[in-house]
Amino acid sequence: MPSVSERWHSLSADVVAECAKWGRDANEVTIVVVTKFHPASVIEELLEAGARHFGESRHQDASPKADELAGRDLTWHFVGQIQSNKARAIARYASVIHSLDRDSVVDALATSENRVAGFVELNLTDDPGRGGVQTADDMLRLAERIINAGTIDLRGVMAVAPQDADPGAAFAHVATMSEILCQAHPNATDISTGMSADWQQAIEHGATHLRIGTSITGKRPDPR
Ligand SMILES: *Cc1c(COP(=O)(O)O)cnc(C)c1O
Repeated sequence: MPSVSERWHSLSADVVAECAKWGRDANEVTIVVVTKFHPASVIEELLEAGARHFGESRHQDASPKADELAGRDLTWHFVGQIQSNKARAIARYASVIHSLDRDSVVDALATSENRVAGFVELNLTDDPGRGGVQTADDMLRLAERIINAGTIDLRGVMAVAPQDADPGAAFAHVATMSEILCQAHPNATDISTGMSADWQQAIEHGATHLRIGTSITGKRPDPR
């Protein structure tokens, strides 16, 4: 079995090759290693190997690790659904929040003393109960609220491909939504799509942030 650092190196090389295939500059693609439920020691090993961007999806799991690794040269990305009453605590360690999915989270961050970069989360399913906005109008409304919060730098859109659909088609739709967002907010050009199973299609459709868990870390331990 390859080690975590071997898998990091090999995935990084694969991303460079995939970017070349689509005529893209690999420097514009950030690999966020999603380390949820893995111990801080896994992050130590990845830091040693050169990884700098780490993603977490649950505050109670992320917060002690952020404390343990305080002062290290790394950037925390928060990728999971946020309870509004935890938003400010998350902004204390996470400098990039990929999962701005509704007004209450944005409003909570508006009162935070920590500035963050943020993505509008798109819901690509038919289920309105899933996190994120479904229509372009709702995306633009939430983006406006993010700008008005005054504490969030709007970076772009984020999405998870639906399980039962072709990720290529889903990411093509995200690219269209990104263009609509950029017409209103020319700096919000980033696209956070692509996980272990579908990052190649994400690169094809313009992803700037890949959120990769299991292909680097291996199988996740059960959530505590
Ligand atoms: C867990 C998670 C990932 C990583 O998923 P893998 O399939 O393990 O690569 C990416 N994005 C979000 C939002 C996640 O919760």
